[in-house]
Amino acid sequence: MKVVKFGGSSMADAGQYRKVRDILLADPERRVVIVSAAGKRFSGDHKLTDLLYLCYSHVKYGVDCSLIFDMIRSRYLGIQNALGLKIDLEPELNELKSRVAAKQVTREELVSRGEYFSAKLMAAYLGFQFIDSANWVKFNYDGTVDQEATYEALRSQFLGCTGAVIPGFYGSMPDGSIHTFSRGGSDITGSLAAAALDADVYENWTDVSGILMADPRIVENPQAIPEVTYDELRELSYSGAQVLHEDSIFPVREKNIPVNIRNTNDPTAPGTMIRESFEGDHDPDRFITGITGKKDFSIISLSKRGMSNQVGVLYKVLKVLVRHKISVDYVPNGIDNVSVVLPTKSIEKDLYTILSEIQLEAEPDTLEVHHDIAVVAAVGRKMAFRPGISGKIFAALGESGINIRMINQGPDELNIIFGVDNRDFENAIKVLYNSFITK
Ligand code: ASP
Repeated sequence: MKVVKFGGSSMADAGQYRKVRDILLADPERRVVIVSAAGKRFSGDHKLTDLLYLCYSHVKYGVDCSLIFDMIRSRYLGIQNALGLKIDLEPELNELKSRVAAKQVTREELVSRGEYFSAKLMAAYLGFQFIDSANWVKFNYDGTVDQEATYEALRSQFLGCTGAVIPGFYGSMPDGSIHTFSRGGSDITGSLAAAALDADVYENWTDVSGILMADPRIVENPQAIPEVTYDELRELSYSGAQVLHEDSIFPVREKNIPVNIRNTNDPTAPGTMIRESFEGDHDPDRFITGITGKKDFSIISLSKRGMSNQVGVLYKVLKVLVRHKISVDYVPNGIDNVSVVLPTKSIEKDLYTILSEIQLEAEPDTLEVHHDIAVVAAVGRKMAFRPGISGKIFAALGESGINIRMINQGPDELNIIFGVDNRDFENAIKVLYNSFITK
């Protein structure tokens, strides 16, 4: 059995609903469908969830939200009418509108209604059963999910069901009130459903034909990654590429359920398969799985004669950063110097206080800060224990005149990370892509 999740763009209008139905009809194993709220139909359009948040803010500050609510209502009624569905959401939408105006609806309940109405419509369209996520996704009061209770509840509600449509993004607190995941959280709902029902695969349908090997804003028409491990995906998303909600990996990974990223607008494309590991190597020459990165890092760098013989210099630097609740991304070092690489945004506000505290505690001979650094990560499970890879990567960058400011490789050799000037960021990614992926 397959659990399939459709994102907002796949739920944007009646035309997309038809594509979803065709995808389900093409494979009877696709029996559990998780849906997002309606997304954008075209650039410049609004996501329903954004409108719902906006609606709540209006009411909170005493401004009439009728106009926005009517936009929401007409999106859903438009889909309902275009598909000629037998259900009528209008009374429920009207009732919600008056409860919102009377301030009887919490923020979480209101923003969850995008998924709720999507699922109601899709269930009616497919002739599947609607299973409300308020009745099975069980949150603890600290916002974590009570997995056991959640799995148990879904299993019992799915019993005897041939097909179900389930709204993503929300569940309920122990007192029954609605609680939502963070934005993009329908991915987590899908993953929980796949884990609860021991699905063979969790298909996540979106509007790209898989996870791309590089950012399409930088590389023209990048290829999709056919196979990626969970660990590689972590590396890719940590350094920039965001395809799935981070927390959605855990439930399926625990149960060893593969995730397949697919494109609703191109259903024959195989997309990207995410698994714990892969057997065999279809393309031994290609050692990079994906390239990613982020701009705007800073390097705080200090040197001190004889540092290598002293205990605790790095500790003192980190202590200052911990005090300011700043997390460090990389710690490249030399014999008598050490530096920490962190997002510029995280130190901007308190930079001078932080520097003076480091000066006081660690007493370095020199203390410098460099801004406008970009971090690029070449990620690939096939790089591990294979000599010559970093040589090739740095040779290609050198030949293109790109100066490397920092180098870091994790002990699992899953990635090679390097820092360049912000202005070289796009070029570095292009050079890696053109040298090692298209060749
Ligand atoms: N609709 C929610 C959001 O826009 C959740 C989701 O689509 O995954 O964040």
